[in-house]
Amino acid sequence: MSHFFFQNFRFLILCWIALGLITFIYLIYSKKKAPYGRHIKKNRGILINNSLGWFIMEFPALIIMPVLSLQNDNNPFVLLIAFFWFLHYFNRSIIFPMRINTKKKKIPIFIVLSAFTFNIVNGLFNGYHIYLNVPETNLFEFNIVIGALVFFIGMLINITSDNKLISLRKEKMGYKIPQGKMFKYVSCPNYLGEIIEWLGFFMIAPSLASLSFFLWTSFNLIPRAINHHKWYNRKFKNYPKNRKAIIPFFL
Ligand code: NDP
Repeated sequence: MSHFFFQNFRFLILCWIALGLITFIYLIYSKKKAPYGRHIKKNRGILINNSLGWFIMEFPALIIMPVLSLQNDNNPFVLLIAFFWFLHYFNRSIIFPMRINTKKKKIPIFIVLSAFTFNIVNGLFNGYHIYLNVPETNLFEFNIVIGALVFFIGMLINITSDNKLISLRKEKMGYKIPQGKMFKYVSCPNYLGEIIEWLGFFMIAPSLASLSFFLWTSFNLIPRAINHHKWYNRKFKNYPKNRKAIIPFFL
């Protein structure tokens, strides 16, 4: 099994990207929404606590990629890449679930299991790529410095936007129109920030594996942002007309 995995590593990642593209096309054309958060529907099978669900979904990512990649030891570049990854997933799997004000809400177990599986596959591809293929590299290479900047700008947009949404829920249950910062331009700046982060990661450590992660994030979050945007416009008559879904002035 592991022999097959390593021999067909590139081919498997290409299949993984193709699956992401098919998912994207399906989500766009079917207008189907991943049924969690505001898009949750009745009869979605077994439900579990929302915060616990987030922890289960994201925890494999926190562990798998750093553990695999750090076997490529004595390589400061690998340490840097694993650190960036760990930073993101420490927030997403530990801090974010403790902070969201949706503790009484539930999430369908099938959403949790599909994201859990995604994080295992994605962690394996990225971790093994770094373990097997990344040589010692000067940390001040142009692409690394710019990529790190892009990564942190994305992280800043993602976290400040998530913070804004979390604080809205503190004021009252239900949904409000978010205002200020990047919400002036788009309905889902948290998703935009997440996509920018993984673009930065791809720039720091370009590979088919990091490309697949950037693409999958876009394939997943662009349709969801479009659905959120339509939902806001249906729910709030006074929703800002010039606000876009995810890409300022464009989409
Ligand atoms: P949402 O923007 O849908 O929700 C974030 C949190 O804010 C939820 O707790 C939500 O509550 C609450 N919220 C959202 N909008 C409002 C509002 N207008 N008023 C009050 N509360 C609101 O994000 P997701 O839950 O889909 O994602 C959370 C994070 O995970 C994001 O940072 C995202 O980028 C990341 N993510 C990354 C993915 C990837 O592929 N890399 C995939 C999915 C998420 P409720 O749950 O009740 O709607």
